[in-house]
Amino acid sequence: MAYKRILLKLSGESLMGSQQYGIDNAMVLQYAHEIKAIQEEGVEVAIVVGGGNIFRGLSAEKSGMDRAQADYMGMLATVINSMALQNALETLGVYTRLLSAIKMEQICEPYVRRRAIRHLEKGRVVIFGAGTGNPYFTTDSAAALRAIEIKADVVLKGTRVDGIYTADPEKDPTATKFEHLTFDEVYKRNLNVMDMTAFTLCDENNLPIIVFDMNKDGNLMKLIKGDTIGTLVK
Ligand code: UDP
Repeated sequence: MAYKRILLKLSGESLMGSQQYGIDNAMVLQYAHEIKAIQEEGVEVAIVVGGGNIFRGLSAEKSGMDRAQADYMGMLATVINSMALQNALETLGVYTRLLSAIKMEQICEPYVRRRAIRHLEKGRVVIFGAGTGNPYFTTDSAAALRAIEIKADVVLKGTRVDGIYTADPEKDPTATKFEHLTFDEVYKRNLNVMDMTAFTLCDENNLPIIVFDMNKDGNLMKLIKGDTIGTLVK
């Protein structure tokens, strides 16, 4: 195995599948299968799920809402998604713990760094809900922050595209894919990997990022085994 402990970041939108909104349970189950497979290989798996399929603070602000209030709503959306993923994993018999940055005792544990690490050591899949617990941040920042806190070897950012391109491949057919990039190259070329707060956190803490296509069966396992999939930023 190329990695002992990983942090997998899934966007909220990835849970929609082909729907326009909300959660497609078949999609969530597919992800759960992929996660279970790597967990069974002994990889310690922590996950951060976004909330964009339900609510985004920034979009709500544009329609007149108070930004902080809207961001808290966005954080609650990530907890809903996290519960869906937890449910899917448990359906497959995977032990999980959902740790939330905002206390919700009836449905999940509060986030405690040492407890998160203990769960990982015991082979449980840990899902971090409610982002960082702070407005004006994103779940990419939560992914970077938690990965650093738990000393993950890498952040795996599962997306719909199979890596980082010179331009948006869904809009520009001439865009070409990078296999490797340094943090400096990403700054210089002004590429969009994660938001800048998240990206800088990874850079300053020497935490590699791999952007890859999570929707392709077996990709997660291939990555874990050390295959060159997606784009590595190091
Ligand atoms: N959010 C926040 N602080 C955090 C993480 C998330 O305020 O630490 C809010 C923010 O409003 C964001 C929403 O939760 O728009 C959903 O998260 P995000 O947009 O990162 O989800 P994704 O794009 O990955 O689905």
